[in-house]
Amino acid sequence: NPDPPYRGRFAPSPTGPLHFGSLVAALGSWLFARRAGGQWLVRIEDLDPPREVPGAARQQCAALERFGLVPDAVPWVQSTRGDAYAAAVDSLLAAGHAFECHCSRSDLAAVAGIHKRCVGRPRPRRSPAVRLRVPEGRLGFQDRIQGEFSQDLESEVGDFVLRRADGFWAYQLAVVVDDAAQGITDVVRGADLLDSTPRQIYLQHCLGLPTPGYAHLPLVLDEQGLKLGKSLAALPVDAQAPLPALHAAWCFLGQEPRCLPRAGHAADALVAALPHFDPDRIPRTRPLAPVAGA
Ligand code: GLU
Repeated sequence: NPDPPYRGRFAPSPTGPLHFGSLVAALGSWLFARRAGGQWLVRIEDLDPPREVPGAARQQCAALERFGLVPDAVPWVQSTRGDAYAAAVDSLLAAGHAFECHCSRSDLAAVAGIHKRCVGRPRPRRSPAVRLRVPEGRLGFQDRIQGEFSQDLESEVGDFVLRRADGFWAYQLAVVVDDAAQGITDVVRGADLLDSTPRQIYLQHCLGLPTPGYAHLPLVLDEQGLKLGKSLAALPVDAQAPLPALHAAWCFLGQEPRCLPRAGHAADALVAALPHFDPDRIPRTRPLAPVAGA
């Protein structure tokens, strides 16, 4: 079978306005997809109602459009996809890959959050969580930007949650089901998700789904080379005047500054810059200073 045509995606959580970190992920995934002549989709990951900000999804989509980042189809919304997640969990339970778990927070705290076997007992009026049983040994993959990455799921992660006891679907489950259902061939996203990827690859194996290619965009580091967390990446971007932030995101990705025009319409600037996009220039990490000054 020939490889399916490239299909990428940007999957924001609607927890606030579009910030610099999400603009970098949106632009990076768009550039890879368009360079390959492929499609670019958007998926709204609204599975965590307490963290959700009303109207944020609409605001983020409007902002993307101002940045010239227009998806090829109507965005999917995860809160409408419960039936697909339930079907996946049912099949994992039936195949023995997943199990119901009654462990409490304190049970898990006692094992540093790494679930190896259940110690919790069923309690009245409390439904179980569903967890995936992880395999022994290291699971690795080749990341387009970060290189080889591997993890021992058993000792580093433990049996992980697919459906929480309160009934909410876990990100790890939803992302795997939806990447497959949307026919995503390549995942380009922030490096904060690098260590979720072995879990997702194992889940794909269990569900008989294909594994996409992965490219994790640079982490933001401070002057000491320490991971900066989300603080810089969390700065909101001004979608009313998109070019400065678009230019900063382009430079953050290690690209030649003059190849993305600093004036005119964002969509035209992207068209002009696209032929010059060179994935090999993307650094694995980014120091803070050049970005803050951009
Ligand atoms: N929704 C996730 C986030 O905003 C991204 C998930 C992904 O790209 O796999 O951090």
